Amino acid sequence: MIQPLFDNMNLMKPLLDAIAQCGYQTPTPIQRETIPPVLSGKDVLGCAQTGTGKTAAFALPILQRLAQNKPKGNGRPIRTLILTPTRELALQIYENFLSYGKKLPLRSCVIFGGVGQQPQVDALKKGVDILVATPGRLNDLIGQGYISLADLEIFVLDEADRMLDMGFIHDVKRVIAKLPQKRQTLFFSATMPQDVEKL
Ligand code: AMP
Repeated sequence: MIQPLFDNMNLMKPLLDAIAQCGYQTPTPIQRETIPPVLSGKDVLGCAQTGTGKTAAFALPILQRLAQNKPKGNGRPIRTLILTPTRELALQIYENFLSYGKKLPLRSCVIFGGVGQQPQVDALKKGVDILVATPGRLNDLIGQGYISLADLEIFVLDEADRMLDMGFIHDVKRVIAKLPQKRQTLFFSATMPQDVEKL
């Protein structure tokens, strides 16, 4: 059987170099299914658990789209939001964006609760393209006026089933209500029970 290759997925050289440095040789099934539609601007609903390569499946094409399409005005508005239920996941996703995007002129930031907000606020004030967040702290900082999602282009809801299990449904809905209507949405869940399907 011919092995699928990252080289055949229309990914830009800085990303292919980063993938090679990570030692990845072939895309995982979720990466094969997700990268092409995300690159072409489509919404994606993915059933995948952590450990399947899901993070790269959305991070690689997001980085490419942001690098290829410059923001409209001056400044550096938040153009991608990744909402995830726990601090550990948020940090992992953020670190993956840093390693995959290290040759691209894009900035990422991670925010979560349970720690002081000032370093997060300081990082946000410098301008970020990609924000990885847990729902409580995100709504908190939006309420305080430190975050605007008005220019958002891509929204990722990660681990939707866990988000609901952990009681974040209202927080998630509050965030979604603040997003521009016209956007690309990527929705990931390990399982698809009725309440997740409804969301
Ligand atoms: P994730 O499901 O995103 O948490 O990824 C699980 C692990 O798989 C992480 O340690 C990634 O670095 C690694 N990984 C992601 N994509 C690939 C790939 N195509 N080949 C080998 N390892 C990968």
